Amino acid sequence: MNVIYMDNNATTKVAPEVLEAMLPYFSEYYGNPSSMPSFGGDVAAKIREARENVATLIGAAPDEIVFTSCGTESDSTAIRAAIESYPDKRHIVTTRVEHPAIKNLYENLSKNGYQVTFVPVDNHGHLDLDYLYQNLSDDTAIVSVMWANNETGVIFPIEEISQEIKSRDIVFHTDAVQAIGKIPIDVNNTGVDMLSLSGHKFHAPKGIGALYIRKGTKFAPFMVGGHQEKGRRGGTENTAAIIGLGKAAKLAEKHLDENGYERIKGLRDKLENNLLENVQNTIVNGERDSRLPNTTSIAFEYVEGEAILLMMNEHGICASSGSACTSGSLEPSHVLRAMGVPFTAAHGSIRFSLSRYNTEEEVHFIVEKLPPIIENLRALSPFWKKAMGT
Ligand code: PLP
Repeated sequence: MNVIYMDNNATTKVAPEVLEAMLPYFSEYYGNPSSMPSFGGDVAAKIREARENVATLIGAAPDEIVFTSCGTESDSTAIRAAIESYPDKRHIVTTRVEHPAIKNLYENLSKNGYQVTFVPVDNHGHLDLDYLYQNLSDDTAIVSVMWANNETGVIFPIEEISQEIKSRDIVFHTDAVQAIGKIPIDVNNTGVDMLSLSGHKFHAPKGIGALYIRKGTKFAPFMVGGHQEKGRRGGTENTAAIIGLGKAAKLAEKHLDENGYERIKGLRDKLENNLLENVQNTIVNGERDSRLPNTTSIAFEYVEGEAILLMMNEHGICASSGSACTSGSLEPSHVLRAMGVPFTAAHGSIRFSLSRYNTEEEVHFIVEKLPPIIENLRALSPFWKKAMGT
């Protein structure tokens, strides 16, 4: 059975070119990049090249890039660096719809005496910017706002927020893990001080990420050890993965330049419009205009998302649901809850996230198979029958 993979916000396939670039660095060139040149020397040069590629993708300078093990590490490094750099400040700000990499860290910090402001969103997923600005004070150490939401794809106005924060002595961090490679990002157009990215969201392997740290930003390392990454992240470099990340960044730039995402957006829109037209009581979660071009979160009211996933899986279709397993029961995600999506819709929410490897045929296949799945599940749903008065 062919697999139709539309869960690219969870993780992506390693691009063949990326794998090819990495392989020699497991076998032939296994020297330590910190060793003397000749054997290790080529490795160090390759890491330099990878750093340049990642920097170029976001308009940064190479020495503003620190390699990490993942998006989560980049996020933790940024937040902890900010609070360590401003030990007298005890207030930190983020949004209600962040990934657990930020959300759970902020909740931990709240238990450790930090005053935390979680900025709410409306039912389109838009941030309440007035609430954000009104809550800033001289005690605020850091504001962390994701560039784009992983569940709905809604894009936040990072440039606008950074302008508002710039004049204050507050670190501004953005988790751009889902935005990188999908929309153009240039850190020169923003006042962001730090930006997190993760390789496995744009066709590099899992276990490699990076943190952009704007020149002049106060910084304290999270991983303390050797002199690697100019003392900003100790530990021998994950050479092959860094080289893979560099290659993936180069490819992402090329695809963005060639308008690769217009094609993906076209496929996403076709999928979305078709499902909206052909399945009644179907809603798109979140703002549809200012959104990542590859993502749609669709609520099929009165059915269980997990059941939809299981039935799609029988046809080889992979996506994800808007629920998370909390203490053994399925709860709508904190993102959909923060947006006030009703339970009957949140439970039946499915996220499709596309990549450049998806095709028109795959979209046709899904729009053929999914409507009868929903119809069959609704025929069994007491909630549907009650809502329809049947
Ligand atoms: N931030 C966002 C917005 C994400 O979507 C993810 C992963 O899904 C992460 C952070 C964590 O990245 P990683 O899996 O590389 O730790």
